[in-house]
Amino acid sequence: MPMGTTHRRLNTALSVPLAAGAIWLKWDAGFVVSLLAGYHFATYFMNPDLDLNSLGYKSWGWLRFIWWPYQKMLAHRCFLSHFPVISTLLRVIYLMWFPGLLLVLLGSSVRAAARETIFDWFPVVGPFLLVFIIGMILSDSLHVIFDTSSTELKRLFRGSRRHRHSHDQNFFDHHHQATPAWAERRRTRSR
Ligand SMILES: [Zn+2]
Repeated sequence: MPMGTTHRRLNTALSVPLAAGAIWLKWDAGFVVSLLAGYHFATYFMNPDLDLNSLGYKSWGWLRFIWWPYQKMLAHRCFLSHFPVISTLLRVIYLMWFPGLLLVLLGSSVRAAARETIFDWFPVVGPFLLVFIIGMILSDSLHVIFDTSSTELKRLFRGSRRHRHSHDQNFFDHHHQATPAWAERRRTRSR
């Protein structure tokens, strides 16, 4: 698993070709901004590693309590927190518990005003919100790709070292010789 800072650096670097691509496709400026805003929001705040006491989790400051149940409920890198697209949508839905609770506590007049505002503004804001979520999905998908590829690389590296050591061992066993100290050291180091 790359460190939180590595995830941030990689994702931030890749936001440059993402922005260039959106501009090249002649996207409306508002959509480009929404895409990048969603992308960076996911990179810095609402990323898959909220299932851990991570950099993203700490970035929420005192609001981090919103994610405390999420972190306790999910095992790190489980399907629900790390599967592309689905995990992003689940986090968006999960986040709603907090404003939902506020609306319940603030009473019916506030709820009615909020409902009216949402109905009035949704046709205008809706498409930008959708692009914002697409930006989040892209950021989270890259996170998962980096997580998976770093694990694979580590496994490959460990595998090749283990292979070399077992090769040493087999050689000495085959020749009925005691394993010399250097090979023994190499074997214990690889564990
Ligand atoms: Zn992760």
